Amino acid sequence: MDGPRYCAACGALLEVAQVENRQRSICRHCGHIHYVNPIPSVVALLEQNGAVLLVQRAVEPGKGNWCLPGGFIETGETIADAVIREVMEETGLECRPLEVWDVCSDLGGFYGDILVVCYRAQSLGGTLKAGDDAMHLDFFHRDNVPRLAFRCHARFLEKFWRQKLAFHPHH
Ligand SMILES: [Zn+2]
Repeated sequence: MDGPRYCAACGALLEVAQVENRQRSICRHCGHIHYVNPIPSVVALLEQNGAVLLVQRAVEPGKGNWCLPGGFIETGETIADAVIREVMEETGLECRPLEVWDVCSDLGGFYGDILVVCYRAQSLGGTLKAGDDAMHLDFFHRDNVPRLAFRCHARFLEKFWRQKLAFHPHH
């Protein structure tokens, strides 16, 4: 089992035991149970003229592949706050979060399990500029989407294109 070896509460060595129907790291010394949960993250689905903003990743996981702009939610932030911050950091655009588009579980990846909340967002302006974690940025239509880094992002995009086709059947 992955995770810390020592108790975060008292520093004693943790051991693995069956607790509440799962294998968990527990501390026999102080009774602390080390719960492990998916990490909450956000991505933005930001559309302009039928094309969606994607970021080419400059870092692992998925270095060189593309993804929706996003990242982990910080403590003290709402989901919408995180969308605004991540889009600004990664793309230079100010945005307005519109609605939750979909949610998806990304299990057993580079950072362990991640809960991904996808928000639709609207650009309020700014200058498109790749942040430190990105090589390139661009808007893509369905027929020229580059290789994506994450299954959940592909799912969000597929749902988006399907809905667009439903509204505009002749495109
Ligand atoms: Zn302890």
